[in-house]
Amino acid sequence: MMSVSVKCPHCGKSLMDPSKKLNGKPAIAVRLTYAGKNAPLYLSSLYGSYDVEVGLPIPLSKIAGFRCPHCKADLKSTRKCDICSAQMVAFDLKQGGQVQICSRRGCKKHILEFQDPNNELQAFYKSYVKSFK
Ligand SMILES: [Zn+2]
Ligand SMILES: [Zn+2]
Repeated sequence: MMSVSVKCPHCGKSLMDPSKKLNGKPAIAVRLTYAGKNAPLYLSSLYGSYDVEVGLPIPLSKIAGFRCPHCKADLKSTRKCDICSAQMVAFDLKQGGQVQICSRRGCKKHILEFQDPNNELQAFYKSYVKSFK
């Protein structure tokens, strides 16, 4: 099984956390912020796995902030979600290319929405494969 690697678009440091394993691979780790609190968000880096761990309860339809754990830069991108028009969040792939996810909880483009995680992470990995070609 193949795994992906992402880095901060601002400081270029790895967002992979070797001390946090999901599916036996280093997880993708960012800081999630909401209502003045912050907590780690972990995504599985393994292709075909849909595991996500969120340390903060985000109410449905609320927009969460995503920050780099190293430089604390806001990871929001210049693009808006084409479904709910919330700001997208961007990660750079170490192999080249970028992955963007919606920052709104409950949005169909949102990987924090657990109701249908498969489609969301498939979209995540499809955009990875596309940019990798
Ligand atoms: Zn950074
Ligand atoms: Zn959205």
